[in-house]
Amino acid sequence: MTKIDLTNSIYHDNDAAREHLETLLWPEGPVCPRCGVIGDRITKLQGKSTRPGVYKCKDCRKPFTVTVGTVMERSKVPLCKWVMAAQLMASSKKGMSAKQLERMLGTNYETAWFLFHRLRECAINPTRGPIRGRKQGRRSRRNVHRRQGQERTPQQARAEERSRSFAY
Ligand SMILES: [Zn+2]
Repeated sequence: MTKIDLTNSIYHDNDAAREHLETLLWPEGPVCPRCGVIGDRITKLQGKSTRPGVYKCKDCRKPFTVTVGTVMERSKVPLCKWVMAAQLMASSKKGMSAKQLERMLGTNYETAWFLFHRLRECAINPTRGPIRGRKQGRRSRRNVHRRQGQERTPQQARAEERSRSFAY
């Protein structure tokens, strides 16, 4: 297993995690996920009523954050948990179960299960969308739902993992 520095703030602090993702996704600065503009066409929204990490495109006039168009979009799971889960799954040679993820992240099983499946769906790279690439149209969203529908429920998965738990 590749060594991970779990003391790194990107695994514990949501602002640090977000900045880490911004550096990964936007090496040249923020990019509008809708029209693709960069540079001075983008403004960072600031102010007490604005949550951190929100930008606005002057061309399409829509606000966005670094997670728009990625597997993390609209997720209620803290960004630092996403970053840590992706790192743990990517660096585990033998693969990692949702149960192991639950223990290492300190989340409940449902959250670990959700992260596990979402990350596996996008090949463990949280900066990608669930279906190849970052852009997802309505059709691909439907596909995601259909595919998720065929997956085991957290309850089924938990029962299955419990029956295998002696292996860990
Ligand atoms: Zn735009």
